[in-house]
Amino acid sequence: KPVLGVETSCDETGVALLRWDPEKPGRGLLSHALFSQIALHAEYGGVVPELASRDHVRKLLPLVREALKDAGMTPADLGGVAYTAGPGLVGALLVGASAARAMAWALGVPAIGVHHMEGHLLAPLLEDDPPEPPFVALLVSGGHSMLVEVKAIGEYRILGDTLDDAAGEAFDKTAKLMGLPYPGGPALAKLAEEGTPGRFRFSRPMVDRPGLDFSFSGLKTQVLLAWQGSDKTDQTRADIARGFEEAIVDTLAIKCRRALEATGAKRLVIAGGVGANKRLREQLAQAAGADGFRVYFPRLAFCTDNGAMIALAGAIRLAAGQHQDETIQVYPRWSLETLPPAA
Ligand code: ATP
Ligand code: MG
Ligand code: FE
Repeated sequence: KPVLGVETSCDETGVALLRWDPEKPGRGLLSHALFSQIALHAEYGGVVPELASRDHVRKLLPLVREALKDAGMTPADLGGVAYTAGPGLVGALLVGASAARAMAWALGVPAIGVHHMEGHLLAPLLEDDPPEPPFVALLVSGGHSMLVEVKAIGEYRILGDTLDDAAGEAFDKTAKLMGLPYPGGPALAKLAEEGTPGRFRFSRPMVDRPGLDFSFSGLKTQVLLAWQGSDKTDQTRADIARGFEEAIVDTLAIKCRRALEATGAKRLVIAGGVGANKRLREQLAQAAGADGFRVYFPRLAFCTDNGAMIALAGAIRLAAGQHQDETIQVYPRWSLETLPPAA
């Protein structure tokens, strides 16, 4: 029986229906629906938590109906309801958790609280030819930049983390300081395509010392100084965007190769919103060819937040006999390393 996945940790309401298929998880995806609140938050230049919660209340049930309809199903067909239990905005999480828990209770099926970053990490499993553990995962999203050793599903060791801004956050803040509208990450990446390579060169933070941690806030300052001291033309903005993107992508690629070397893994999984970045995808595909590892990405729509990754993580946990009791609990801060193995 399919699992309903519900994602409400930040500013997208996502739902999906997935029937667990251990051979090929992507085959079990029956439908998915998403509503992004970007327009709602744009005029404030960032996510306003209270507005996010209220909009999840408005959009969640209509999206669930839509996903059921697309799959030709009714609530009675569900075998479980998975929801993002953290990390994320507490109010936004509570909307999804309460609705999911209530549906599960009314239907007499289990509810499964999913770790949002485990959802991101498992998203590449929804594609054809899914990666098998062990592998190394680069999780690069709006709130996280991590390298994770995945020994098995649920057995995670954090190899490196960001000391300040996450990669997506660095994209967004840098875009903002050059006057691009929120959320600037994708817009900055698009601009970079028109930029002149080599006109601006920024440092690759923390690559000259050992370790797998990241730090991107200094890069943002370098961009600010370059932008303020420039002629501020559209071409210069694109050229700076190009230099910034190259610096971030190079840094991520260098650390990925180091993590593969340190663990001896032969597979690399990229997930999270920045995983949608074209230059990052191309550069890692190239590195994979040169170094003899394989790299796996989710499709673009499953890099950023979505319900499919939550349905998948929930279905895997449910298949392992794991689910929640009847209390509604969310965890705004929650380490991946504390999760139990999913077997
Ligand atoms: P978290 O998962 O850490 O809680 P989040 O859910 O807000 O954070 P995601 O939805 O995974 O993050 O990703 C959103 C981030 O991805 C934003 O910071 C956005 O700028 C960035 N992003 C999306 N597309 C691109 C792109 N093509 N290039 C660079 N960054 C991108
Ligand atoms: Mg988002
Ligand atoms: Fe996310």
